[in-house]
Amino acid sequence: MPTPQWSDIVNPILSENSSVAHDTLRSWDCEHVWHAFTQMQEYESLLIEEGQGATLVDIDGNRYLDGSASLWCNVHGHRHPRLDQAIIAQLNRVAHTTNLGLSNSTTVKFAKRLIDVAPAGLDKVFFASDGSAAVEAALKLAFQFWRQSETPQPHRTKFIALAEAYHGDTLGAVGVGGVPRFGSLFGPLTFEAIRIASPYARGPSAVSSEDLLQTSLENLENILLQHAGQIVAMIVEPLVQAAAGMLVHPFGFLRGVRERTLRHNVLLIADEVAVGFGRTGTLFACEQEQVSPDFLCLGKGITAGYLPMSATLTTQAIWNAFLGEHAERRTFFHGHTYGGNPLAAAVGLESLEIFREERVLEQLPEKIERLRHHLKRLSVLKHVGSVRQCGMMAGIELVADKTVGKHYPWEEKLGMRACLAARKHGALLRPLGDVVVLLPPLCITLDEIDRLANAAEAGIDEATR
Ligand SMILES: *Cc1c(COP(=O)(O)O)cnc(C)c1O
Repeated sequence: MPTPQWSDIVNPILSENSSVAHDTLRSWDCEHVWHAFTQMQEYESLLIEEGQGATLVDIDGNRYLDGSASLWCNVHGHRHPRLDQAIIAQLNRVAHTTNLGLSNSTTVKFAKRLIDVAPAGLDKVFFASDGSAAVEAALKLAFQFWRQSETPQPHRTKFIALAEAYHGDTLGAVGVGGVPRFGSLFGPLTFEAIRIASPYARGPSAVSSEDLLQTSLENLENILLQHAGQIVAMIVEPLVQAAAGMLVHPFGFLRGVRERTLRHNVLLIADEVAVGFGRTGTLFACEQEQVSPDFLCLGKGITAGYLPMSATLTTQAIWNAFLGEHAERRTFFHGHTYGGNPLAAAVGLESLEIFREERVLEQLPEKIERLRHHLKRLSVLKHVGSVRQCGMMAGIELVADKTVGKHYPWEEKLGMRACLAARKHGALLRPLGDVVVLLPPLCITLDEIDRLANAAEAGIDEATR
């Protein structure tokens, strides 16, 4: 076969360096870009060109409220001048240097600031680039810890996780995850976690949340007794199981989990990838129940939605078990090329400054209240089975028949249809099954919350009519 000449394979449109027609871009998008969690056969291209605050603008100039905070990560809005400037300032120094045996002043400052604001006892930071990678690091650190603790406990091989948990899409994270529509196919490739029922009942239930809380904690206690000496760690999403459909735990569950894991000498991994950085009303969800986990996984909002970064925070006790001479092989042999990237650290650092100086958390109660008002209003709609909220995260569950809590057949994609219909009313939303999610940037104004809720209502109305 003759070697192709560069001139034969280069696309003439690219070489012209001219602007590309919008329809061409759309067809390239559909033909070449494999979108996450998307059936490409049904995908319709929507191309975003720019953003400002809580608003995104597509290539044709249509404006939308960013109702999912660009998948749960945007915090202070798009093109925040201070965040933009922080990246430019870092770019004028250096874009990337490795974290393997070397450091960068911006990354160190960010690590120190994270520790200052994190729950007590967490004072070591391991950086990676995605939430899943933060979870993987926590799972492996916990596993290795027991093998290297003062009295090694090699029989500890199991993890406890909640039913319908979501911790990311890499294989370890899928192992502890339990959202059936995401993970079951890969079962043969993953390890099995011991599951306890989540303290939440979907649909109409005769059981009170106090009973659910007690049952779930008793279930945990039994498992801890039954598997004494075999458990590495328990992993939880504090306060809300986000990807499961915004399942809000009863108050006291996280605290109960911490008390029991401590009593039974089992490590606790708090996955705050979704709920961290102000999402639930406090900087971290763990604060609300005065819990300090052994590992805190952070991602999504860590850079205010600007650049990929994640962090696994842990304690002196865990760290100590990894110290020793090189030849003792106690090192954590794990890492990612872009872990601790200085550009991401610069914007993460500036985001924490904005939280403090712009008093972001102080402004949330009013916004949370406004969101609550709209959810209450929407809860009476004919096909809204239930509404759930924790801080600035909310889910509206659509049902075929609300008197009996009957779900729509999942093939009908009611949630997706409602979200697509809401686009026509100026909101970009992304559902979780039949749960329409409202999870805007924290900077959203009261007026924008009204518009977002009205667009969601119009979308739900159109899809369920
Ligand atoms: C999104 C999410 C993850 C995975 O983060 P990625 O950055 O998508 O890898 C892990 N845990 C929770 C709770 C999440 O919501």
